[in-house]
This record gives sequence, C-alpha cells and structure tokens, in this order.
Amino acid sequence: MKIDWSSLGFSYMETNCHIRYVWRDGSWGAGELVREPYLRLHIAATALHYGQAAFEGLKAFACRDGRVRLFRPQANARRLATSARRICMAQVPEELFLEAIRRVVDANREFVPPYGTGGSLYIRPLLIGSGAQIGVSPAKEYTFIVLVTPVGAYYKGGLKPVRAIVLDDYDRAAPQGVGHTKVAGNYAASLEPHHLAHEQGFPVELYLDAREHRYVEEFGTSNFIAITTDGKYVTAQSSSILPSVTNDGLQAVARSLGMAVEVRPVDFDEIPGFAEVAACGTAVVITPVNEIVRGERVIRVGPAEGVGPVFGKLYQRYTALQVGEAEDVFGWTVEV
Ligand SMILES: *Cc1c(COP(=O)(O)O)cnc(C)c1O
Repeated sequence: MKIDWSSLGFSYMETNCHIRYVWRDGSWGAGELVREPYLRLHIAATALHYGQAAFEGLKAFACRDGRVRLFRPQANARRLATSARRICMAQVPEELFLEAIRRVVDANREFVPPYGTGGSLYIRPLLIGSGAQIGVSPAKEYTFIVLVTPVGAYYKGGLKPVRAIVLDDYDRAAPQGVGHTKVAGNYAASLEPHHLAHEQGFPVELYLDAREHRYVEEFGTSNFIAITTDGKYVTAQSSSILPSVTNDGLQAVARSLGMAVEVRPVDFDEIPGFAEVAACGTAVVITPVNEIVRGERVIRVGPAEGVGPVFGKLYQRYTALQVGEAEDVFGWTVEV
C-alpha cells in the first residue's frame, strides 16, 4: 500500500490491526491482534449506557536513527489508571499497557510516517466496561483495545495562532467531578459548546472554573499555558483540569532551559498581562492563541502572526526530543 505522507491529516485511516484484551473474573487475557476494525459488544454493555469508558492518546515516531519510539507511554499508563479508578473499571497494569502498545505498533510498522515527514503514528488506548448490566453498577467484564492510525504534521508552514472564546453558559467540569480524568463522557459534554464556538469562528473554547467563572481552567481538549513578560512559564491549577502529558513535558523542558515554572490558579483578568498564551496537547503540541473573546471583551496576546519566541523555542526542543534529534535526557522514549 502506498500512503501519501504529505497529505495526512488528523483522521482515521485503517491499518493492519488493533489489539484487544478482555478482563474477566479478575484477570486479563492474553490479548490478540484483530484485523477487523469492529467490536462485537453486548447491547447492555456499561460503556454504551452509563459511559463506563476512558481513553488515552499518545504517539510513536520514526526517529532520525531509523528506529521507532513511543513518547512517554508510562505517563499515559498512569493517567489511564487514574481514570479507571474514578469510574470503577478494572485496572490495566503498566506492563500490560506497554506490551499492548508495543505489539500493536510492531504489527503496524509500515504505517509509521517516515522521519522527516513530520507525521507520527497516533496511538489510542481505550478501556470500556463491556459486560452486560442494567442496574447501575460497575461491569463485570472490561475490554481494553489499542488502535493506531497515521497522522500528519499539524502545522505545514509554521505554527499558526488561533482565536479562542469563553462561553460563560457552559462549564467543562465540576470541581469534584471527573474533569481530571480522560473519561469519554467529558468529550460528549464538550461537543455542543465546541460546535457553538466553531460557528462563531473560534477553533477553540476556553473554560473557566465552574464555581466562580473567575479562574482559567483549560481549552476544550488542551491545557492553558502562558509566558509572563519576565519569561516565566505559567499554567493553571485546578482539581478539574485534565493533567496534560504535553504540559508536563513542556514544563520539564522549560526548567531545563533555566525558566521558572508556576503551576497555580490563573485569574482570567491576568491574561492581558501575559506575553504569550497557548494551548497544548499531544495532537498539536503547541497552538499559539493570539486572541481571547469573552462577551464584549476582546483580549489580544502575543504576536498576531506565528508563535512567540518562548513557545517557539519550547516547541522546537520538545519536537526534537520526540524524533530523536535531541538526546533523550529525560528518559521519555521507549523503543519498539
Ligand atoms: C487529552 C486532554 C488534554 C491533553 O493532554 P495530553 O496528554 O497533552 O495530550 C488536555 N485537556 C483535556 C480535557 C484532554 O482530554
């Protein structure tokens, strides 16, 4: 099969197989590579009715030395464990999580975009309650799958800033709810505000804390990060923010460059004072934000075009680590 690596976007392309494990009677099965991209599921599975489902997102890269490496899979394993615990699902041990990813990536090597194309193999682990249950309680059977699909470089001609909107009629997550976990239902709840933002010409929406609408939470599917005028890295802290692996990694890179990092509540009114603002997540790494609109208020931040100098540099360093152009001093990569 011939793939035009330069035309890849972020959409699903069928690959050789996915991997599937089933948990029953307290233990996981051996797991099998399955060619068909379909799952035979009981109509009363808890994932379908009660949202007992959580997922992860990470990438494998073809590196400069020709090897394929996973980027920080242990961090995703730990986060899936947090999600599973919160909605009472069977735990996927870290070793099983890594084994599943290794096996499925190995079986789909020809779908890893070559070094230099800017693409990567997107990896999507998914854990669902697959046991039949009508009363509301945790399922007695779980299915863990990992699917992979090649994705392209998001930015084809340099980082492009986007406008964001605050929709004060919507909250993403409650302070003691499930916002800190990557459960499927969080995404369903974000579809309507995301659609409304889009209709008004905003690619992303920014959420504020549900209690006061005073503090910054995060963008729909990515964390809020900012650079102060004196060069500090600032990111919002709250019990309902999803802890982004990308944000964590960018903080480590920032520290390694001697920058101060502040993880603290960020008042919405601080935004006009920031030198640079961005959204961060696995899909794109960094998306500069140059304008935030809330009602009549329009806040412009950072350069109107392109990316600011600090996020530009962090982006370069981070992506160099992903593809093995920079030495893996953090021990983040795992060879497949
Ligand atoms: C997945 C996700 C992110 C980004 O996390 P990464 O690990 O960096 O990809 C941010 N916010 C929400 C709500 C998410 O679900």
